[in-house]
Amino acid sequence: MASEGCGCAELTARLEAVSSQLADQINTRVGKEMIGKDRVMDADKLLEGFMLKPMNCPHHIKIFASQPHSYRDLPVRLAEFGTVYRWEQSGELNGLTRVRGFTQDDAHLFCTEEQVAAEILGCLSLVKIVLTTLGMADYRVRVGLRDPDSTKFTGDPEKWDKAENACREAAKTLGVPFTEEPGEAAFYGPKIDFVIKDVIGREWQLGTVQVDYNLPIRFDLSYIGADNQPHVPVMIHRAPFGSMERFCGVLIEHFAGDFPVWLAPEQIRLVPISDKVADYGKNLLTQLRAAGLRATLDEHSDKLGAKIRRAELEKIPYTLVLGAKEAEAQSVSVRSRAKGDEGVIPFAQYLERVKQEVATRALPEKKVAAAPVQK
Ligand SMILES: [Zn+2]
Repeated sequence: MASEGCGCAELTARLEAVSSQLADQINTRVGKEMIGKDRVMDADKLLEGFMLKPMNCPHHIKIFASQPHSYRDLPVRLAEFGTVYRWEQSGELNGLTRVRGFTQDDAHLFCTEEQVAAEILGCLSLVKIVLTTLGMADYRVRVGLRDPDSTKFTGDPEKWDKAENACREAAKTLGVPFTEEPGEAAFYGPKIDFVIKDVIGREWQLGTVQVDYNLPIRFDLSYIGADNQPHVPVMIHRAPFGSMERFCGVLIEHFAGDFPVWLAPEQIRLVPISDKVADYGKNLLTQLRAAGLRATLDEHSDKLGAKIRRAELEKIPYTLVLGAKEAEAQSVSVRSRAKGDEGVIPFAQYLERVKQEVATRALPEKKVAAAPVQK
């Protein structure tokens, strides 16, 4: 289910089953192993009536429904990083890409019929910004349409046509290949999925945008139109990253663990050649951290070669080697993941450069130039 991103309405149908299964599991698990003995309640009282939240949609719907809306208020866009839980079967769990607790960058847009096209377009632009910023150029877009011969799709065919057309037109503006897949819509509306290819050619569905005519009716949502009459809004579910966990998993694969400097958990490793320049190292460390950079100082007593090797193995974007000459000249000897040995440059100059790289979210040239692996 997690692979479907925000498959909210299907989930509603399965909610009861999921809920009782979850409750059973929690009751069993939370017993003696996870809570101290003094906090264990009788099994029949344990977590009675509680469940883990499997999706964010109903919460956003409730917020929308909590006050009256005029057509002038629309679109109402509610977004959150919401952590949700799904009882995935143990055989289906897979690293970060299929987990039981994950966080969706979830949003629900409530709009009028006329606003659907512009809202879809906005969602797609957002997904595109995310993917472009991360250098994920190798993706395709899948437009899921209804199968006109099937009865599994609910709602007014005219609205479907309009929404499908809006999805199609929005997909065209992206300038990347897209396929139309009849029968692949959610039962409540058409959807657009982004399918990313990782470094070894595997495809992952990440971001998703879904048009929903069903939940607003089921939850009895309305707004007052220009005609002073109540109307049912259209709801759009959108999650540019999909699940953050899955996205991070794919991102690690995408960069093969070799993160650009702005994303790397550790950006800079300072490597003093000897104890004599330890103070210089500490001084630079303070300056780098004050500039908001994630830097560390390698104070181990290993040989220089071993320290550099370690930084390479850990894929630290920059290793700055510090000797007596560098200390005297307030400079650093720079080794970068992207360009190798860059020689000695003044520290102030290096600092400006790396700050700039972080601010512009620069991607290593070799990554951009790398040819995507074809299937
Ligand atoms: Zn949703």
